[in-house]
Parts: sequence; structure tokens; C-alpha cells
Amino acid sequence: MDYRVTLIPGDGIGPEVTNAAKVVAAATGVSIDWEVVEAGEKAIRARGTPLPDEVLASVRKNRVALKGPITTPIGSGFRSVNVALRQELDLFASVRPARAIAGEGTRFPETDLVVVREATEGLYSGVEHWVDRDHSAAETIAVITRRASDRVLRFAFELARREHRRRVTGVHKANIMKTTGGLFQTAFREMAVKYPDLDADERLIDNMCMQLVKRPTEYDVIVTTNLFGDILSDLCAGLAGGLGVAPGALYGDDLAVFEPVHGSAPKYAGQDKANPVAEILCVELLLRHLGEKDAADRIYHAVWETIAEKKVVTYDLALPGYTQRPVPPSSCSAMAREIARKVPIVDLSKPLLVPGAAAASAEDRPLEG
Ligand code: NAD
Repeated sequence: MDYRVTLIPGDGIGPEVTNAAKVVAAATGVSIDWEVVEAGEKAIRARGTPLPDEVLASVRKNRVALKGPITTPIGSGFRSVNVALRQELDLFASVRPARAIAGEGTRFPETDLVVVREATEGLYSGVEHWVDRDHSAAETIAVITRRASDRVLRFAFELARREHRRRVTGVHKANIMKTTGGLFQTAFREMAVKYPDLDADERLIDNMCMQLVKRPTEYDVIVTTNLFGDILSDLCAGLAGGLGVAPGALYGDDLAVFEPVHGSAPKYAGQDKANPVAEILCVELLLRHLGEKDAADRIYHAVWETIAEKKVVTYDLALPGYTQRPVPPSSCSAMAREIARKVPIVDLSKPLLVPGAAAASAEDRPLEG
């Protein structure tokens, strides 16, 4: 079957890692017709806007997209394209699995959890202004609604059931932010009652951070509001081996956009140096979403084997701490070619090579549906 998928290469390292992901996707034999549309800096230069209408139209038409990271100017300049895309397309659930991918790259090789983040409102609603003319005071308003809270909470509990996970932890700051945090907390408690087969508990965001760096393996599915989810998913990416290996997905009612947790890393742009694994694992999640389980499993196994062998890995995986003996770093494209070479030949019945790897294989635990 042929699939038509929107491809947004993005900024900085985006074009390199999305190219790498395409090479690996092609190796699966699944026929994907990529419809390339530009957003971000290239779109500003060509079209005068960072998010042209054709980008939104393409995702709405194809219903599935692979996206590279997009730069957002810090402190001033245009509004985040990433935030705008989520709001325009109503991509309300940002799902970021944190699976430790190689023994020595993390203190917690058993880490295997998922952060589900509400992605359309909260402190990222875009309601902010200067209070006075001197710009000596400013306000950013957090908008939390019952509707958006309910749908992301339902999504998280359903995901936990589908992936045979046991526990859902709701994260908020309802002790201080009694209205917005309190609303999310109440919605969490009422949703948890509907899923008696799952353990449900709550953490304040500050305590959650401390718990995660001490005992990440005790957590399973974490569901939270926009800003807390943004921070926690980078923290969890660090636990699982770093930004270079952390994929993500955004879901709406009938749309899905797959993008890595990392940003455009401008200092590495054009150097063929960035780790392509996060974007490649986005293709794995995308194929799983399309029902192409065999192809998705092949990518997952090929990535694990490539990282475990430590022969063809990018600079971040070649550093001491990731490997006991440093290895010469390979380029982004070389690592992608190595993963692609393995895709058709990996033995899916073989256990993954990494000792201490998360217990469940991709086959036992479908990541997304
Ligand atoms: P970043 O994730 O781009 O980079 C932080 C550091 O992580 C890099 O300097 C690099 O050392 C490392 N890194 C990230 N990705 C890597 C990879 N694939 N391989 C190897 N190392 C990697 O974060 P930042 O510097 O805070 O942000 C840069 C830009 O990206 C900003 O404009 C930010 O707004 C944007 N951003 C976009 C998204 C998105 O598109 N979803 C997400 C986060 C940040």
C-alpha cells in the first residue's frame, strides 16, 4: 500500500535528520510518497511567514506528518511555529516515550516510561503582554480548560491500557496554582475512577523531578499540562540516553505529527554531525501508527543493534560515558546508512543486544496505535 505523508524538514539540523529518516524508511520497503512543505526560517525567506497555509493544508489532507525541529527566536521575534502548529491542528496530546537505548549512556538502563503532555493550552496559550509601557512587568496567562484536560487525560489512560502499562501519574502544582492546577487535578481524579484496572497517583511537579532522577523505573505513564510536560520530556530524554535518541508524536482526533524531542541545534547545522536516531525513531512510531508493525519493529531493532555495536555512531554516542572506550564518531548520514543496511536483515526473534535493556521488546509492547 502507498502512503502519502507530509514532510516538514525544519531548520538547523532538521533537513539532515529528516533525510536520514527517509533513508531508513525506504529500507523497510513500505512505499511512502513524501509531500515536502517548508515551515520555519526557509518559509520566512520564501513566503514571508514561518507557517504558510499550505503546511496546515498538507497535514490536514494527508493526516500524517514527519517533522524536523523548527527554530524559534528566543525572547522576541515571531511566535513559535511548533506551538502554532499544535494549536492550529488541535494536536492536543504530545507523547514522548523515554526508552533507555543503551546500557552505558544512562544511569537507569531499565528506564521505559511515556510522558503525555497537553499540547494546546496552559502557559503556552500565547496570552501574554507587558503590564506597563516601560516593560518593567509582564504577564503570561495559563489557560486550563476542563475539555482539554479531559481529552488528554483520557488519551493517557487509554494509552496505558493499550500498551499494557500499569500506572498513570498525574503531575500538577495544585498546591500553589489552585485554580488551573486544581482543575487539572480534579479532572485527573475523576478520569482515574473510570480506569479501575490501572494504578493512578499524583505528584507535584517539583517532587516529580526529584523522583524521576532518583527512581525513574518506578514510573510508567506521566500525564501533565503543557509547560511541565515540555520540561519533563527533556528530563526523561536525558534519563533514557539523551536528546539524540528521543522521539515524539503529536496526536489530534484524526491527525498525527511525528517529531523528535530535540530542537534545531543550530550550532551543528550543515555539518552532517547530529544524531539521526530521534528522527528515525519518529519514523518507527509513524509506521506503527499506520499499522506497519513489521517495518516499525525492524527499525527499532536496527537502531538498538547499531547503538549496541558502537561501530557506526554519531559523536554524542561515541563520547566517554556512553561507551567504556571512546570510538571514532561517524556522521549523521553514515549512521543512517548503517541502520538502513540492517533494517531488512535484522532477526526480530533475537533478543535485543543491550544488556539490562528495558524488559519489553517492541513486539510485546506496541508503542503507538
Ligand atoms: P536543541 O535540542 O536544539 O539543542 C540542545 C543541545 O542538545 C544541542 O546543542 C546539542 O548539543 C544537543 N542535541 C540536540 N539534538 C541533537 C541531535 N540530534 N544529535 C546530537 N546532539 C543533539 O535545543 P536548544 O538549543 O534549546 O534549541 C535550539 C532551537 O530549537 C531553538 O530555536 C528552539 O526554540 C528550537 N526547538 C524546537 C523544537 C521543535 O521543533 N519541536 C524543540 C525544542 C527546541
